[in-house]
Amino acid sequence: MECIFCKIASGEMPAKIVLETEDVVAFHDINPQAPVHVLVIPRKHIARVADMTADDVTLMGKIIYAGKQVAEKLGIAEDGFRLVFNNGRNGGQHVYHIHLHVLGGRAMLWPPG
Ligand code: 5GP
Ligand code: ZN
Repeated sequence: MECIFCKIASGEMPAKIVLETEDVVAFHDINPQAPVHVLVIPRKHIARVADMTADDVTLMGKIIYAGKQVAEKLGIAEDGFRLVFNNGRNGGQHVYHIHLHVLGGRAMLWPPG
């Protein structure tokens, strides 16, 4: 198993876990781009949003729901936060296991660059 996020999901590789369910794991990003920067991943390995199938629709909803719960748990839900899926090279994706970025604790810029 080569995938670092599969290793985090299985517990083989350490991470600062924020929440875990049967289907998803949320943990602090190792190189945070905001005061709060958490990644939510499915335990199932799916490389990119572009690789999801109709079978993954419920799972993707659970990822977004976990993002909302992370925002509440870390106290950024009221002030606002940003949810991002980078997809592929032009999308700025570096780790090819789907992950939702939960960013907050400061005002985000738009356009995102
Ligand atoms: P991407 O650029 O693929 O959208 O985001 C990958 C994210 O994973 C980056 O923000 C990067 O800092 C984070 N990351 C990469 N390797 C690790 C790791 O081993 N542990 C943690 N916690 N985050 C990682
Ligand atoms: Zn993986």
